[in-house]
Order: sequence, then C-alpha cells, then structure tokens
Amino acid sequence: MKYVIISDIHANLEALEVAVSRIEIVQPDRIICLGDIVGYGASPNECTQIVRNLTDLVVAGNHDWGVVGKTDITYFNAYARHAVIWTNRNLTPANLEYLEKLPLVHVENGILRAVHATPDHPERWNYIFTYPQASKQFEAFTEGICFVGHSHQPVVFELSRDEITTINSESVKLKKAHRYIINVGSVGQPRDGDPRACLCVYDATSQEVKLERLQYDVESARQKILNAGLPSVLANRLLWGE
Ligand code: ZN
Repeated sequence: MKYVIISDIHANLEALEVAVSRIEIVQPDRIICLGDIVGYGASPNECTQIVRNLTDLVVAGNHDWGVVGKTDITYFNAYARHAVIWTNRNLTPANLEYLEKLPLVHVENGILRAVHATPDHPERWNYIFTYPQASKQFEAFTEGICFVGHSHQPVVFELSRDEITTINSESVKLKKAHRYIINVGSVGQPRDGDPRACLCVYDATSQEVKLERLQYDVESARQKILNAGLPSVLANRLLWGE
C-alpha cells in the first residue's frame, strides 16, 4: 500500500498543480490531505476543488475552520486574519460547506493516524517542535505513525523504547517496533527556508518515507496574492520559504 500525504496547501494553485503531477507519477493507493487547503494564497476555490476531486481522506486545518467560523481567529496574526476574511468572502457556498464538514481526525485500520496539528487535542491547533511536546503526543495515539502538518516544516520524530530522536532527511526507513510522528511539510507555504513545495510519500510495504521537494512557479503564485490585494508579506515569504 502506497500513500501520498499532503498538507498546508494554503490556496497556492501553482504549488498544488505540481504536487498533483507528482502524485500522478507516484500512483499511490491512497491520498490523504492534512488540511489548511485555504488561507494566505489567492486560489482558494481552485485548490478546494482539486482536493475534493483528488481524495475524500481530508482533515480540517485551523485556516479551513477559521474561514467557516468554526475556530476563533482572534488568535491568528493580523496577516492570517486578513487572509481568512478575504477567503471567506471569495469562496463559493459549496466550497464553504465542504470545509465546514471536514473532520479533525482520520484513522487508518489502526496503522496510521492523520491530523492537522496534534493527536491529543487536534482542535487546539498546538505545534510539535520540541522533544517534550513530541513525547506528550506519542502518548495520545496508539498507531505506529501519526502524520501531522501545521508547522510547515517537514521532520520525522522517531520513538524507540523511550528515546525520541528527530530525523531531517528526505528519505527515512521506518524501523520495526518504533513509532513515528511525521510532519509532512507544506505544499503551498514552506517555512523551512526551502521555497519548494513539499509532499510525503509513504510506502507501507517497504516502510519507506520520502519527504519530496518540488520546484513550482513561485512568481505566479506571488503575483496572484499581490493582485488579490492580500498583504504583500504573504506573497514575498513564498520566495524564501519562510
Ligand atoms: Zn498551515
């Protein structure tokens, strides 16, 4: 069984199209989307429609729920809030309804779990950056792997008997009797200093995880954000992947 897991598209059509082209080559059995389909970028309807056609294994991100009023956006920074309000005004009623109905968690046959933020309280939109944070989250699920997004920074947390290590590699071979929290990075707004789109390929047979990076037309995505009248910082950060 081969999976592709994508996250944090953020209405970046140019990045999503490149990811879809890669998915067509990989030909996974299942495609899982970890949310934040919209927010920040200028193509929310196009991206929502592509995700709807691509897969029904989709969980909600804080921006998806923020746009439909299901999560409190007073905690968002000013740029994010601006984008959430703009996105709410620009999405079709059908796409708003779709985002509104997204669940918070997807569990696959007791093998893997998929959430946008954290497995313990996915609705709180917390981050997993440190070992103590990861340690707490490993106690919150029983499957071998939990896939997460939200930070826009790809990383693998590996739990052996009682020790956690992080792996920052494009290709990771999962070990028997180990458990994993895998952040799949961001398709449409990477924040690890690498502006290329990120997606995760997980081969459950060979137990290989690849965090692939893909070049896309950053300049077009950037121009669309500026033309839409969204904050220029949201356009320019795409250039640096920050
Ligand atoms: Zn996000």
